[in-house]
Amino acid sequence: MRLIFIGPPGIGKGTYATAVSERYGIPHISTGDIFREEVKRGSELGRKVKKYLEAGELVPDEIVIEVVRERLKKEDCRKGFILDGYPRTLRQAEELDKMTSIDLVLNFHAPDEVIIERLGGRRICVKCGAIYHVKFMPPKKPGICDKCGGKIIQRKDDTPEVIKHRLEVYRRVFTPIINYYKEKGILLDVYAGEPANIVIPRILKLLEEHGFKPEK
Ligand SMILES: [Zn+2]
Repeated sequence: MRLIFIGPPGIGKGTYATAVSERYGIPHISTGDIFREEVKRGSELGRKVKKYLEAGELVPDEIVIEVVRERLKKEDCRKGFILDGYPRTLRQAEELDKMTSIDLVLNFHAPDEVIIERLGGRRICVKCGAIYHVKFMPPKKPGICDKCGGKIIQRKDDTPEVIKHRLEVYRRVFTPIINYYKEKGILLDVYAGEPANIVIPRILKLLEEHGFKPEK
C-alpha cells in the first residue's frame, strides 16, 4: 500500500500517519524528519540541507528527490509506505512516478478556523518542550508546565497571523500537486476537522473500503 499524505500545518498528518503505519506495518516517511535527523547527525546530507532549513527555504528538488529515491529502496518499504512532506513540487511528483506507483493520495482538509483554533491554542514549555493546548489540553496551573514546572509560552509560529500566512503558503504550494493526483484519479479528500479519535477510524475504514487489508 503506497500512500501519500497531504495536508496543511496543524491538520494532524503525523498522528494519522503513525496510526496507519502501525496498523499496516509500513513505514511513515517524513522528509522533514529525515532532514532534521541528518542535520543532528552532522552527516554530509545534513550539512547540505542545514542552510536551507535555517533560512526557512525549501530544500532543492535534486536533493529531496535523491533522498526519497534512496529511502524507498530500503527493505522496510517492500510492503508499502506513507510519504509525508513529499512531493512538494510537480517535478518531485513526476520523479516519484518513475520510482514507484502510488496507490492513493489522502488529502486532509479542515476549515481555516479549525486549524487556527488548534494551532493558535497551542502552548509549549520553554524548558522541556512539552506541548499543551489552552482548550483541549490545558496545564493544571495556567502558564506552568505540569511535567517540569517550566514556563509555558506560545511559539511565534502559532500566532493567528503567522498561521494564516502558513495556510496561504500551503495552498500555493500544494494546489498544483493536489490537481496532479486528482487528474490521475487517485486523490481522496478526507475531512479532518474533528479530533484524532474520530479522524483515525475514518481513515482506516476508507483504506479498507479501497481493498487494503490491515496486518493485524
Ligand atoms: Zn516542561
